[in-house]
Amino acid sequence: MKDSFGREISYLRISVTDRCNLNCVYCGKEDCAKKATELSPAAYYTIAKAFASCGINKVRITGGEPLVRADVVETVRLLRTIPELKTLALTTNGVYLAQYAAALKEAGLDSVNISLDSTDGSTYRHLTGADVLDKVMAGIAAAEAAGLAPVKINAVLMKGVNSQGAAALIELTKERPIDVRFIELMPFSEQGENAALRVTGDEVLRQFPFLKPVAGEEGTARYYAGEGFAGRVGLISPVSHKFCAQCNRMRLLCDGKLKPCLGDDAVYDILPYLEDEAALVEQIKTIILKKPAGHRFEENAPAHGLNAIGG
Ligand code: SAM
Repeated sequence: MKDSFGREISYLRISVTDRCNLNCVYCGKEDCAKKATELSPAAYYTIAKAFASCGINKVRITGGEPLVRADVVETVRLLRTIPELKTLALTTNGVYLAQYAAALKEAGLDSVNISLDSTDGSTYRHLTGADVLDKVMAGIAAAEAAGLAPVKINAVLMKGVNSQGAAALIELTKERPIDVRFIELMPFSEQGENAALRVTGDEVLRQFPFLKPVAGEEGTARYYAGEGFAGRVGLISPVSHKFCAQCNRMRLLCDGKLKPCLGDDAVYDILPYLEDEAALVEQIKTIILKKPAGHRFEENAPAHGLNAIGG
């Protein structure tokens, strides 16, 4: 269905937990070990089915870190039975992905986005608080082997922190059909609110002039590639190239609240409607119509960290 600004809402992001096994410096204002109410796989199925009847055709499972929940495979299996869902994807930090990639694929997952901000061990440890780069690299290889395609790597560059590693991340796209996407730092933490740390998409292009535009999917990323490279480089620039006018997303937080806009603090509880499918659909439609025109990062930072929202 269309929202009140004429945008076709077709994409639901489900955060299945606010817990995370990493503690990325730019991500949250909350404690990553905190545990809000988490819904069951059956509840996610009920909600996604209601959304599908409102026109949602893509669901992404996120967190916190979704793979801290072993029943995420069951959630994928249930969501896959909803015929309207053309795309079922998951975003992960990759630490547990080697364990889960084959089972997720078998349960019906189409693709994964993996967060990797540096290929250098000590920079990775500094950013995430954990010495697990080897596990993430194994997770990326496992996702490729399982056919969770396309494998996309998400990286947030910060000046003087990990920006010097951008070339090594781009290098990953040379031989492998991987998309490396640079997401601009958003104001979700003390670091995120420090605009001086932000590397814009245009700055990446100036630094790597061999990257030329290539046709890419519609959506939030602009895509580029080096000549003859197997993969692509994506630029996601929510701050310098605001894309709210094309935003097709709704977000479900792990405690059952709907968040129509990443950069707006309003949330709406849909748990009271779970037992009544018709009422749930009506409530979802009402909330979609409350989606604001756009984020206001430039005026005020959101109250919650991304670990609680799911990115
Ligand atoms: N744990 C999973 C992961 O690491 O991908 C899913 C949740 S994480 C919050 C989703 C995405 O949000 C990650 O790619 C992360 O890099 C991004 N992210 C977190 N904080 C951010 C910030 N302040 N600015 C831009 N992106 C951010």
